[in-house]
Amino acid sequence: MTATQRLALIVEDEPAIRRFLRATLVANGYEVLEAGTAHAGLTLALGESPDIVVLDLGLPDRDGLELLKDLRLSSNVPVLVLSARDAESAKVAALDAGADDYVTKPFGADELMARLRVALRHRVQASGDSARYEGNGLVVDVVRRQVTLQGVPVHLSPKEYGILEQLARHAGKVLTHKYLLDKVWPGASEADAQYLRVYVRQLRQKLGDTADTPHFIATEAGVGYRLLTEP
Ligand code: CA
Repeated sequence: MTATQRLALIVEDEPAIRRFLRATLVANGYEVLEAGTAHAGLTLALGESPDIVVLDLGLPDRDGLELLKDLRLSSNVPVLVLSARDAESAKVAALDAGADDYVTKPFGADELMARLRVALRHRVQASGDSARYEGNGLVVDVVRRQVTLQGVPVHLSPKEYGILEQLARHAGKVLTHKYLLDKVWPGASEADAQYLRVYVRQLRQKLGDTADTPHFIATEAGVGYRLLTEP
């Protein structure tokens, strides 16, 4: 399932590597922005709020490390650095400057995606949320944005997924209507709680769940919803 797609920013001046990165990320369900210079990269990183940045250290106008330091002044976005072979000191400097991880050129698609998933998972965990929910045959993988029920993919709309992701990140806890609205409908008011009810009803239908005897999503009357954890 690809719910709301993640947005990746590639900052890399070599066209062949950029093409490879784009193809790999698109094949893995990402939307992609590209920059060939540090200046353009920083502008896009700050203006477009990507979910992840893949950053080459050797850029024509400025060192990628300098871009990273500037980015870290105002952004906590996960950054995966691409570095040349045998540049250990550059890798250490990049990690010290706030990179989440690095891959050494040349690298394969599998390695790149594995490193990206690790970086995203660490961020979710560092925020105190859980990255994966498993209970009663339902699996919600927040990093991959995948939902399966008894091993079968469940296809959700972006709003349905957004609600389920929040519930999964805080499984067992009651999330208030306001909390869910703020996360899934930025700018919504309490009056929009009716939409929340509609989407939760759809979500329950797709999960084969009911409000009366819930296996997954329990209603806390007048308060909000809770994703049940197994006893
Ligand atoms: Ca380069």
